[in-house]
Amino acid sequence: MDRRRLLRTGLVVGGGLVATTVSTGTAVHAQASDGTGPEERPATPDQAWARLREGNRRWVAGSPTHPHQDAARRAEVAEKQDPFAVVFSCIDSRVPPELVFDAGLGDLFVLRTAGQTIDPLITGSAEYGPAELGTPLFVVLGHQRCGAVTAAAESLHDHKKLPGKLSTIASSLRSAYKRSGGDIDKMIRINTIDVVKQLKKDELFAPRIAKGQLKVIGAYYSIDSGEVTRLV
Ligand SMILES: [Zn+2]
Repeated sequence: MDRRRLLRTGLVVGGGLVATTVSTGTAVHAQASDGTGPEERPATPDQAWARLREGNRRWVAGSPTHPHQDAARRAEVAEKQDPFAVVFSCIDSRVPPELVFDAGLGDLFVLRTAGQTIDPLITGSAEYGPAELGTPLFVVLGHQRCGAVTAAAESLHDHKKLPGKLSTIASSLRSAYKRSGGDIDKMIRINTIDVVKQLKKDELFAPRIAKGQLKVIGAYYSIDSGEVTRLV
């Protein structure tokens, strides 16, 4: 089979998505259904979210195409990057954004902290893509069975301070804990939405959001199914 001219159409039943992938040599690129071409960077917040959703559907279905993970892409973005989204997720080893959204080199800015907790230092890194490069989408991604949130909830419940700087994570999650009634999964979702609300008020984000140039959304990742569900 001539791989350079191979055109493959795959039907992903689980996500209800008909994905067309074009393989040229070693590179396999996803054809986006959001109106953008396979190699076109999503320009709007909605196009960027559609691209992430498509990648996540492939991940859920067990049929990732691993786009932008070859030497050609490395060369393409060597001088300049222009990622289409920022993903702010947990440090949890089971939630790597490039895998769960089936993305590659130069596609995403990735921020990760335990329980995706935020402070001024992290906010500075969060601002970089949207404010300096016009990245159109910011996703705060909470996840099922978050160990950081669980440890914080236990610490707050038992009034036992976590060792070292881990205690700052518990402090950051105190408000979400109080409103969750001790339900860990609810606390994960509340915290994710809290971080979204905080970022929407950011002085560099707010004007871009008002102009429709940026969306900050919250989502939840299921470790069991691999599926990302939008919360807000
Ligand atoms: Zn976590």
